[in-house]
Amino acid sequence: MTTVVLLGPPGSGKGTVSEALVEKGFSHVSTGDMLREQIRLKTPLGVEAKKRLDQGKFVSDDIAMQMIEGLLEDADVDQKFLFDGFPRTLVQAEKLDELIRTKNLILEAVILLECPNDQLVERLSGRQTCEQCGAVYHLSYKPSAVDGICDQDGGELKSRTDDVAETVRKRLEIYTERTAPLIDYYLEKGLIHSVDASRSFEKVRHDIAVKFG
Ligand SMILES: [Zn+2]
Repeated sequence: MTTVVLLGPPGSGKGTVSEALVEKGFSHVSTGDMLREQIRLKTPLGVEAKKRLDQGKFVSDDIAMQMIEGLLEDADVDQKFLFDGFPRTLVQAEKLDELIRTKNLILEAVILLECPNDQLVERLSGRQTCEQCGAVYHLSYKPSAVDGICDQDGGELKSRTDDVAETVRKRLEIYTERTAPLIDYYLEKGLIHSVDASRSFEKVRHDIAVKFG
């Protein structure tokens, strides 16, 4: 089993990179999605996680590890994973190293998407979503034909409250704070593959496809 870890701030194009890698045969593993599924199914793990989230806490390292271990137990030997949202803390990174030693898992690279904060704020704060069909537009990059109206169904376009510039800046600060120790950890191991994510998503996608093809 092989895995690639994806690190990148909101707005850096993690979705684009994930798509490119899925096309190359990687299974996209989003711990956030896995967790929502556990909560929906009300598994013991999901119930425990929901309790923490309701209290405004992050999900514990144990819960994240249980999900990843469960996943690896059911995996084929030749499977390739893309970890998105894991590891999130140094403790999780160290536990991942333990899995690498005990489960025959190879950590191929840690993709680090780098983009100046001002650009991320511009990308994120211009986002608009159709209230009816969920189509996503952007004031600068992908504007609708008629201002505030969805091209597909005439639905009203709204900005999410967490896409407002000030909230976006706060989210980016939190990301930087939490991720810095992980970046150092993997730099030291020589595993960081840094990608200039300030370029167009097409260019980033192409680079990833070439590197991990
Ligand atoms: Zn629509």
